[in-house]
Amino acid sequence: MAYIEPAPIKDKDNPFESMMSRFNIAAQHLGLDDEIYNVLKSPTKQVIVNLPITMDDGSIRVFEGYRVIHSNILGPSKGGIRYDMEVNLDEVKALAAWMTWKCAVVDIPYGGAKGGIKCNPREMSPGEIERLTRSFTQSMHEIFGPDKDIPAPDMGTGPREMAWLMDHYSRAQGMTVNAVVTGKPIVLGGSLGRTEATGRGVMISAMAAMEKMKINPFKATCAVQGFGNVGSWAATLLSERGVKIVAISDHTGAFYNPHGINIEEANAYRMQNGGTLEGYKGAEKIDAEELLTLEVDVLVPAAVEDVITKNNVDKIKARLIVEGANGPTSAKADDIINEKGIMAVPDILANAGGVTVSYFEWVQNRLGYKWTSERVNRRSDRIMKTAFDKVYATAQEYGTSLRIAAYIVAIDKVAQTYKFRGGF
Ligand code: GLU
Repeated sequence: MAYIEPAPIKDKDNPFESMMSRFNIAAQHLGLDDEIYNVLKSPTKQVIVNLPITMDDGSIRVFEGYRVIHSNILGPSKGGIRYDMEVNLDEVKALAAWMTWKCAVVDIPYGGAKGGIKCNPREMSPGEIERLTRSFTQSMHEIFGPDKDIPAPDMGTGPREMAWLMDHYSRAQGMTVNAVVTGKPIVLGGSLGRTEATGRGVMISAMAAMEKMKINPFKATCAVQGFGNVGSWAATLLSERGVKIVAISDHTGAFYNPHGINIEEANAYRMQNGGTLEGYKGAEKIDAEELLTLEVDVLVPAAVEDVITKNNVDKIKARLIVEGANGPTSAKADDIINEKGIMAVPDILANAGGVTVSYFEWVQNRLGYKWTSERVNRRSDRIMKTAFDKVYATAQEYGTSLRIAAYIVAIDKVAQTYKFRGGF
């Protein structure tokens, strides 16, 4: 396809370029026509807002907030809101597109979106974070809606922020609208199983991949980068299935114990230690970069984007990578991963358990009904396993990596839907 230009190669990896270069390869495999390629390559809507907030000391600080709707072809757009100092438009655009592909891979009726506020929530008081969240919700009142655009937690946000968002949106509507946001506290209409859903999906993907690779989980070792919601649940659930977790890390440091880390104990330590692993004594402290290059069977990057890059991919020894984070592998590392024969279960498949249970939460809110955790887990496990099998079969059919296969499955679904709906 002549119209597809290769993504520009710059020194610094850029998540949007990483997303586009995979999109381009999958589009070529599918022989996607120009019209649809052009529709899907750029976001539908990009909103940037200024949020002036009175800080606790009386000063006023202005924060920048974003919401990018990449696509609403499959349904209302869905995706989290990130509070982080690294938030920028390019990142939010990539994350929004990944949500489109993710929802399509697991076959749920949503488009993709992402939001973010450039801020450091670790340095803000709960009151400041609440004012910021309410101000953002107010600015996005025309964008959000249970049938339009449904936010959820992401890095730096959780049930508490989703509760404020739901409350503020509901006040403006003059009625309770709990389906406007997912990842809420259970008492506010949150779903059982949502907290652990992303980590659980990572576990299901890892188990399915290990089965294909004939790796016995009871003999497997695993390193998990990131011990937030996704990483800690993935580690907990994998260790429950016999996998020996030998390394974990968070922004305060990385920890290694070749005999296996007691994950229950590490979780308890984190809870008592203000949410971080700082000072953890159950393992030896190692260099953060070293965690990625340990001699393990499975590597779960569950922190941020672009941690596996052309600079360290040569040193990776894991046989299987299961991406808990969004975009942890830069596109420039893909070829070497494939050459080395490493199986990489891509983010848009491996971490889709979170949005799957978000979908269940939205369904329950709209029904005014509550499911048991058994029902939630059974259904999300089935969705994850079906998606894995479909991506695996597509990889065999097209002779591609699982990553490109996942993009093929997703783009094909969105393109077919677009064709039926038509443009003007
Ligand atoms: N932020 C999560 C993700 O990246 C969840 C999104 C959602 O549940 O809408 O998949």
